[in-house]
Amino acid sequence: MGESKPLPDRATITATLIDYVAQLREEGMDGLPPSARPSSAAAAPAVEQSRRVVNAASDSSAASRSAPAREMFSKYPGLEKTESLEALREFIGDCRRCKLWGLRKNLVFGVGDPHAELMFIGEGPGADEDARGEPFVGRAGQLLTDIIERGMGMTRAQVYICNVIKCRPPENRNPEPDEVAACEPFMMRQIELVKPRVIVGLGTFAVQAVLKVKTPISRLRGNWQDVNGVRMMPTFHPAYLLRNPADKRLVWQDVQQVLKELGRPIPGRSGA
Ligand code: SF4
Repeated sequence: MGESKPLPDRATITATLIDYVAQLREEGMDGLPPSARPSSAAAAPAVEQSRRVVNAASDSSAASRSAPAREMFSKYPGLEKTESLEALREFIGDCRRCKLWGLRKNLVFGVGDPHAELMFIGEGPGADEDARGEPFVGRAGQLLTDIIERGMGMTRAQVYICNVIKCRPPENRNPEPDEVAACEPFMMRQIELVKPRVIVGLGTFAVQAVLKVKTPISRLRGNWQDVNGVRMMPTFHPAYLLRNPADKRLVWQDVQQVLKELGRPIPGRSGA
């Protein structure tokens, strides 16, 4: 008779259920109990596991690039030789490296200061972004602008904003794994070229794609992560905040940590 597998303990089952419910909540499902928000010690093991995965990725890097990042770069010879954002945009060209190319109006590369100390990374373009060729220009984009300007005392021109995926998935569905695999090397090169001191990861999809974890954003937010030697603060996506305005206070806490890390004043706290 073969050995039976040990059953997971109660804490593991609880953490898994909390993860699942939190994920549903972030995907917009209504009617979930408020207690779905993880805040207890039961959440700790999964978050700690995520941290170990992230740290393992960065520790294994001989230079600053993690092993997954090196693998990404090996996919596109010449990518790491692009010396500027303009050169990278030229390298990407009229991209047809995944099936999203045929559905886009515009490829949405990124905007802002090419040497910004602060970089925002979201999921992918929506309809407004696809039409304009610029990230975060719809309602969610206006909220991001408010966070940057009113919440952080900065301007959009002072930061750099891009997405994991450069072309709009149809009907705003989540990007599929093959699309992420095809497109994420460009985002990784954008990080290397901009060299921000801090990245803010916006929302479940972007943070999970960058960190290579499955932990929901509600468990990662507020906790510093490492992306090839750059500190990343995960927080909620502005589109989620439009549906859940009460959670703006959590994003406010997260951006305060970012401002402290950058050594910038917190608006409203300096007597100004
Ligand atoms: S999503 Fe990325 S990989 Fe796919 S076609 Fe657009 S730029 Fe190319």
